Amino acid sequence: MDKSAREFLRQLLATPSPSGFEQKIQAVVRKRLSGAADEVTTDVHGNVMAVLNRGGSPRVMLAGHCDEIGLIVTHVDDKGFIYFDRIGGPDPACMLGMRVRIQADGGEVLGVIGKAPIHLESADQRGKGVKIDELEKLYVDIGARDRKDALKRVAVGDPMVYDEGMIELANGRIAARACDDRVGVFVVVEALRALADGKGDKLNAEVWAVSSVQEEVGLRGATTAAYAIAPDVGIAVDVGFASDHPGVDPKKVGEVKLGGGPMLHRGANINPVLEKLLADAAKKHKIDTQTVGEGRIPGTDAAAMQVTQRGVATAIVGVPNRYMHTPVEVVSTDDLDAAVKLLAAAIRSMKKNHDFTPR
Ligand SMILES: [Zn+2]
Repeated sequence: MDKSAREFLRQLLATPSPSGFEQKIQAVVRKRLSGAADEVTTDVHGNVMAVLNRGGSPRVMLAGHCDEIGLIVTHVDDKGFIYFDRIGGPDPACMLGMRVRIQADGGEVLGVIGKAPIHLESADQRGKGVKIDELEKLYVDIGARDRKDALKRVAVGDPMVYDEGMIELANGRIAARACDDRVGVFVVVEALRALADGKGDKLNAEVWAVSSVQEEVGLRGATTAAYAIAPDVGIAVDVGFASDHPGVDPKKVGEVKLGGGPMLHRGANINPVLEKLLADAAKKHKIDTQTVGEGRIPGTDAAAMQVTQRGVATAIVGVPNRYMHTPVEVVSTDDLDAAVKLLAAAIRSMKKNHDFTPR
């Protein structure tokens, strides 16, 4: 990826956007899309939708969700300690000792999730995490003197995220909180930009790049955006489980390597004609992909898009991801570049009125 794309990715990963609080990141997305798309709009739900080649056929919707998992303030006690609930599915095993950034109305407030010293714990307390139904045992310390002091700075209902921006690891790999699914937003935006750039190449399709909201709390943004756009084809770009690190068994999720290329899913959520079109485009352009078999409907925006209106031909382009829903999700930027290339090539290969009916 070039310098400006890399900077866009860095900004996406640096901007807090817990589900329901996506305004800041959508401003970043709109800026990158303006000039590339024919039109960029934001709907009442918060989805940012950019269209290219309006009036073309088939109508294709690309969705990457811009929201991230996080925490939300539920209670402040007399001493000024802040209690919270989860937004989406962060793992309580990772919460102890984390730094957090509370998105308060008056600006960001920093805090830490405290814990009793290990020295003072009994033998059977030591090294034990906190269970999902015991979140009331955890609290954020913002340095407040008491409840009144805390409430001058934060309010019940303020969202928060871990203070874990992007760092660069070896071999073009990056770590950050919420690569899920900033990398999907990155891919759909860059794919639209690539299609807008390809001057001489014919483009039949009408292409929508959607930065969808509230995926982590029930695929809600994609549901309303797909209803409005009424696409023929819907492709969700989201992170998928890499199985090339300790603790994940390829026998369970398949063989998926970081840097091995985008993941192409197969199963009931995937339209077979679209699946083949993506695989053919990958082959033709020598893009490595990794196939994943899914016996159920994976929790991505494709699940919502597929059953919109009279039905949509859907697929998932997956970005291999280590440590999903922890503060240190790892992806390979090579996979992002390959996913952008694959989407642009696949969409260019679509014929006017392309028939996706499985026969
Ligand atoms: Zn996701």
